[in-house]
Amino acid sequence: MIELMPVARQFRLLKSEILAKISNTIEEGKYILGPQVKQLESRIAEWTGARHAVAVANGTDALVLTLDACGIGPGDEVITTPYTFFATSEAISRVGAIPVFVDIDRFWNLDAEQVEQAITSRTKAILPVHLFGQPARMDAIREIADRRGLLVIEDACQAFGARFVGKPVGTLGKAGCFSFFPTKNLGTLGDGGLIVTSDAALADRVRELRQHGSSKRYYHDAIGYNSRLDELHAAVLLVMLEKIDEWNEKRRKTAQIYEERLAPLRPFIELPVTEDGRLHAYNVYCVTSPHRDFLREELLARNIQTGIYYPRPLHLQRAYHSLGYKPGDFPVAERLSAEALALPIGPLLTEQEQNQIVSALRDVAERM
Ligand SMILES: *Cc1c(COP(=O)(O)O)cnc(C)c1O
Repeated sequence: MIELMPVARQFRLLKSEILAKISNTIEEGKYILGPQVKQLESRIAEWTGARHAVAVANGTDALVLTLDACGIGPGDEVITTPYTFFATSEAISRVGAIPVFVDIDRFWNLDAEQVEQAITSRTKAILPVHLFGQPARMDAIREIADRRGLLVIEDACQAFGARFVGKPVGTLGKAGCFSFFPTKNLGTLGDGGLIVTSDAALADRVRELRQHGSSKRYYHDAIGYNSRLDELHAAVLLVMLEKIDEWNEKRRKTAQIYEERLAPLRPFIELPVTEDGRLHAYNVYCVTSPHRDFLREELLARNIQTGIYYPRPLHLQRAYHSLGYKPGDFPVAERLSAEALALPIGPLLTEQEQNQIVSALRDVAERM
């Protein structure tokens, strides 16, 4: 079986270095907010060019703590995309604010053209997602936010290493949130997350919030969270970070090969679009097909796993029933949820596996 995201290979390849780091951490005896987390934060700050990085327990918390630290709460609205992992809007709801959805563009990210008409007197922030690793239209989003006095918080959970006009995602707004879930481009052996920002006061507030609202032990200035990245995960991530550039490059190469070899299969399948100025991180390689479910079954019969991101857009989730959205509200997102199919990708997907995937797709297309 060819896996959709063959991540165990990544950890197996680096197993001895990871084990050595874990062993050192055991010997050092600091397990929470010690030297590994500090080092990871400073490396990622350096790597992205942000002034500050604050590591937390997971990507969802990165969003929640950032929204909270920005003072976003009950009565506030945050504009975001309905076509993303649930955690994006869940974080908005978790701080008591209301997610306001806007349809997506042909790059499958928040449609900047539609953002302005969703702004009300209660809007506090715009929360674009760099979906599948492709940067959202940050120039247009920033322009609207600046003109209307709104914050921009980036959900860069799927896009570590992506760039918009040369600038790393996460550094294009007030703050950027990353996830280190195992399948993300920079992943660990469990959960992890991180916030980057160049606003010192915001970084301090997030640091405080992740430790029960406390900057001095047993003195609490705010109601916070217990949301810290473990030293063990920071140690693993320091090993993985060494590989990120090479591995993101490999993902781009794999995407390019798909692009070249699957182009003749249009319109049975359509390929993802990108444009100059956006450096895609290809966390997910998604095609679309009007015969999506059939294609998925046929590939599975040929021992190829695929994924559906996402079968139900967020505005139609039961959890958001009370927001009053209905089918037809966001046609692009709704069509995509019926037609999108993710093909296997990863830095260690082999050439032979990719050949097998391409041949299987050709075979199915020919028999259509
Ligand atoms: C993975 C992901 C998150 C949440 O990250 P966790 O580390 O799983 O909490 C948030 N938003 C998007 C777009 C994601 O893909």
